[in-house]
Amino acid sequence: MTAEPLDPLHALDDEQRAAVTAPRGPVCVLAGAGTGKTRTITQRIAHLVRAGHVAPGQVLAVTFTARAAGELRTRLRVLGANGVQARTFHAAALRQLRYFWPRVVGGPHWQLIEGKLRFVGQAAARVKAGTDQDSLRDLAGEIEWAKASLITPEDYPAAVARLRRDVPGPAEQVAAVYAGYEALKNRAEMLDFDDLLLHTAAALEDHPDVAQEFHDRYRCFVVDEYQDVTALQQRVLDAWLGERDDITVVGDANQTIYTFAGASPRHLLDFPRRFPEAVVVRLQRDYRSTPQVVAAANTLISAARGRVAGTRLQLVGQLPPGPDPDFAEYDDEPAEANAVAAKIRRLVADGTPASEIAVLFRINAQSEVYEQALTDVGVPYQVRGGERFFARPEVRRAVGVLRTAGPGPEGAELVDVVRALLAPVGLTDEPPSGANARAQWESLLALVGLAEELVAVEPEADLRRFVAELESRADASHPPTVQGVTLASLHAAKGLEWDVVFLVGLVDGTLPIQHAEGDDEAIEEERRLLYVGLTRARRVVSLSWALSRSPGGRRHRRRSRFLYGLIPDHHPASRIPAGRTGGTKPKCRICGSPLIGTEAMKLRRCGDCPSDVDLELLDRLKEWRSSTAKEQQVPAYVVFTDATL
Ligand code: ATP
Ligand code: MG
Repeated sequence: MTAEPLDPLHALDDEQRAAVTAPRGPVCVLAGAGTGKTRTITQRIAHLVRAGHVAPGQVLAVTFTARAAGELRTRLRVLGANGVQARTFHAAALRQLRYFWPRVVGGPHWQLIEGKLRFVGQAAARVKAGTDQDSLRDLAGEIEWAKASLITPEDYPAAVARLRRDVPGPAEQVAAVYAGYEALKNRAEMLDFDDLLLHTAAALEDHPDVAQEFHDRYRCFVVDEYQDVTALQQRVLDAWLGERDDITVVGDANQTIYTFAGASPRHLLDFPRRFPEAVVVRLQRDYRSTPQVVAAANTLISAARGRVAGTRLQLVGQLPPGPDPDFAEYDDEPAEANAVAAKIRRLVADGTPASEIAVLFRINAQSEVYEQALTDVGVPYQVRGGERFFARPEVRRAVGVLRTAGPGPEGAELVDVVRALLAPVGLTDEPPSGANARAQWESLLALVGLAEELVAVEPEADLRRFVAELESRADASHPPTVQGVTLASLHAAKGLEWDVVFLVGLVDGTLPIQHAEGDDEAIEEERRLLYVGLTRARRVVSLSWALSRSPGGRRHRRRSRFLYGLIPDHHPASRIPAGRTGGTKPKCRICGSPLIGTEAMKLRRCGDCPSDVDLELLDRLKEWRSSTAKEQQVPAYVVFTDATL
């Protein structure tokens, strides 16, 4: 191995360097947030390419969001490793499938599905399952989970029984909807996102000539955010890898946030066992955040229950100190949003670029009140996540217009061509009024932004090239970057970083989300979501919550249980009773929440629990539960939640 000097601008510590310069073969980086995992893989690819160990075209790097893939490509270009494929799993699969389609299926390419709920609805109606929008969404989510977990309709009832999974309806009925959906979709010659992966794996598994060609072409695989790989994605990876073991994976089990969709950190944690000769590197130094942010993240995650070996590393902050995390409680959501917007306006006025600020929340519906508040103070913003950008009707229409427009007037600047073509479909000079019209206008403007981005890296790009680029991003869940405050769900914020992060809406019922209640594992996934959120901040992190939804509403909400232990004792907000939580402090015998105040300590009961619970009976019940293997994971206090008492 040549020890060629690495670009000093992209310094590496000893452990990172060990992973970067490891010989070709299995490499696994298990490390916390901000420790340089993504930096390590880009440097590793660049190193292998520059040292001549692999040709750029032989490397396939995959990650989970289009934005992350785009960033990988940019970083690789900066490091001189042009030509490396860096894509999302789905985009990589789509590309391969298009290429191999004539050999493995034949006939015209099947279209990517639009409006999946239509097929789910038809299938549900046939078996007399619920067909309202909520039921259909639940069923569609369940089908996605099953496909990502490699569970067929036939296996579904037995599998969910084995996993003791809560399912949206009788298992046999869900299985029938799943089977019906598959049949209808296939008959219409359409593919959903999971099909892209299933067909890709099958093409390689069942067609030796296809596999041979693929394995001749790609020889080196890299996966970022490997903790969130599903069984289906792992199957695709295995098919890609074939007999080879040239794979680098990096991940952080504490950031697993997609188990609800079939992801599992076991692939990451089992990697060293699967490849005993793997170079395994653990990183602890956090280069992203101030020691204050790091300390909060460590506190939050060390309170997690049932942590598995390999996830207990504490982050060690490397940056100079910054401000302490800020905690703020508000009467209602608009008050919270207005205060956050006012703080943001001050930050921007004082010189923080708006693009260095993010507002992160648990559910997309929380975005709206922040959009309004930021509009009111005149700060630009972009919304990330939510509906898939390229699935939006106005974007599909616009891409259709661009696709059918021909090559464009002759090498005219691409950006001007795009603007001119989009004018008739709504791209006016000034934003229209009305939230919907404005959102559509912003989508079109974002497409122009994409054209600008493309021209910046490929000055010769023409309209045809632009359309091809748009199509290759068909699975992008995010609109392209604009220079504004980012509003994003915690899920969409994974892997990203900002100077200033506002974590908002931190109330029990939202984070953790209501439907996680009573399910320890789901609650822990919610904790990890907050951990992901906290660790996005480089310098400033502000956590807030509101006691009621709307002005004048009943102030019945309580701050998130996860804040317990994070809020310093002297902080005014710590006067509010904490929610139910784990932790090491004395806990209420009934509900398990930490006890505050001497009276509560004496009674061993928090002020929220009724005084007439038969504690002896409760203890017997707990004993019975802990002696029953099946129930061991269910905390006894679940029986005594507000709803049941
Ligand atoms: P996440 O788990 O959130 O995805 P990560 O482990 O992938 O985080 P990176 O995004 O690679 O972390 O790095 C976090 C930040 O630290 C980046 O700004 C990166 O440039 C910086 N960084 C990483 N390693 C070093 C280093 N050795 N020296 C200086 N800065 C570093
Ligand atoms: Mg990363």
